[in-house]
Amino acid sequence: MPKTEHYQWYVEQFSDTEQHHHAIDELYYSGRTPFQSVAVLRTAVFGKMLVLDGDTQSSQADEKIYHESLVHPALAGSAGRREVLILGGGEGATLREVLRHPGVARCTMVDIDGEVVELCKKYLPEWSAGAFDDPRANVIIGDALAFIKQPGTFDAIISDLTEPLPDSPSFPLFNGEVFRDIKARLAPGGVYVLQASTAGFHNMALHAKMARSLRAHFKHVASFYTHVPAFDNDWAFIACSDAQDVATLEPAKIDAYTRELRGENFFYDAETHRRLFSLPLYLRRELAKPGDVFA
Ligand code: SAM
Repeated sequence: MPKTEHYQWYVEQFSDTEQHHHAIDELYYSGRTPFQSVAVLRTAVFGKMLVLDGDTQSSQADEKIYHESLVHPALAGSAGRREVLILGGGEGATLREVLRHPGVARCTMVDIDGEVVELCKKYLPEWSAGAFDDPRANVIIGDALAFIKQPGTFDAIISDLTEPLPDSPSFPLFNGEVFRDIKARLAPGGVYVLQASTAGFHNMALHAKMARSLRAHFKHVASFYTHVPAFDNDWAFIACSDAQDVATLEPAKIDAYTRELRGENFFYDAETHRRLFSLPLYLRRELAKPGDVFA
């Protein structure tokens, strides 16, 4: 048994009564930007990890589970994919996944924190895997809140923002006005997908609130989730569209889409799609309940 007292620990605090302790093999960076605290470290089980404001953002070992889930159901379900917008997305892995589709002419990524983007390029180049140098990448350092108020439309919009906790720079992006702005920037047939918090039986309230709020704006609002080991939880996403219920995308359409991608998927295919959108009873019940919304 390892002598645990020899380790330094990264402790992710989930609530007053829940923590996940990771022994740190190496701490590459720890500091504060004007927007958030940042740590980049390596653990034995998950490899390198990005931590913002004490929350794990992604890990080397399982980031593909998260990023393929966030990107591919939405792009498979969008009528077009020439122009794609990412809100947030610091590590560049969402950008990487979008650019794997040869039909994407330009992918605009708007992240508020240039220091986080630079730290990810320096310490976590495996995530972006060259995507920042792709001529189709249009990386803007700025507030997504201001960006979505500008004119122009996108075939798909992917929100890869930090959790909308009150002290986070992503918090102002979760309200009815923003959802209306995002919808106005979606081309006909487009899909808006967002990382949408935890879906564990013990903490699915924020996710349900997001889904309830989005139902006022989009005809189809499909929750989906997968277990992300580094998050130590089930992680949810929501795909919104007026044209396509992404939950019911036909397997043949998904197969045709995935065949077009450059390189191999790690996690997502038509069978995984079925699993992602097949929700347990407790979550379906929670989603059906009335409750508060992001006004
Ligand atoms: N996978 C992640 C998670 O679990 O929460 C999200 C990944 S990504 C690192 C989140 C990014 O959102 C960060 O790089 C952060 O700088 C960015 N962000 C937060 N608020 C933002 C805003 N208002 N505009 C643009 N980017 C923002």
